[in-house]
Amino acid sequence: MHPVLLSLLLGSTAAAANVFGGTIIVKRNWDRSYLKYFVALGAGFMLATAMLEIIPASFARETNAPILILAGYLITHFFEHTVTPHFHFGEETHHDEFVAAHKGYSVLLGLVVHTFFDGIAIASGFIVSNWLGWMIFLAVFLHKIPEGFTVASVMLASGRSRRLALGASVLLGAATFAGVLTMALFQRHVGIGLPLSGGVTIYVAASDLMPEVNREPGGKMALVVLLGLGIFFLLDRLVH
Ligand SMILES: [Zn+2]
Ligand SMILES: [Zn+2]
Repeated sequence: MHPVLLSLLLGSTAAAANVFGGTIIVKRNWDRSYLKYFVALGAGFMLATAMLEIIPASFARETNAPILILAGYLITHFFEHTVTPHFHFGEETHHDEFVAAHKGYSVLLGLVVHTFFDGIAIASGFIVSNWLGWMIFLAVFLHKIPEGFTVASVMLASGRSRRLALGASVLLGAATFAGVLTMALFQRHVGIGLPLSGGVTIYVAASDLMPEVNREPGGKMALVVLLGLGIFFLLDRLVH
């Protein structure tokens, strides 16, 4: 299949996972206890994909890769934790942090920027190679459900309706798709898109997902992170 077509298809799949995550929050009685395992698996798999695949591939094709990786990391930090007064991955339970309802929208903005780069990452991967595209897609997909879940719960915590909460997760899906589309249109700039989204991926793995892993007591979640790494190495052995 053509790399652009494949990234559009998988971009939509990732976007649908955002909406699914939002639906879990909106349907109050749906089980959500398994979501933390997605966060831990995603942390391990994303970190391995960023360090061992995205960064080396970026260095191979772009001399400015190091500064672009740093920029990707800091852009995410700026929108998720500087503009946004209160943000963490997972269900938002601190209603008191959201008495000023506009704070919910700052989280939405932060996640829209982040998810746009999720889309850039998937398309950049497929432009480079089928293998890189699939690995980045898996890395993105693993944290897509918690992402939709996070934004919907923030919207509810800031007093918005369930419809709006679901709408926010749809918006994250749309931003992901917009990222894929942007990279598909500017394919010759993959040397910029790849390291930028590599920096974003490191941020999401190490600064968004890892703290959630560390918050859980005991070593079980840390083992799930290692399982994420294990899956990466297994795929590398068997498929690559
Ligand atoms: Zn909170
Ligand atoms: Zn993401």
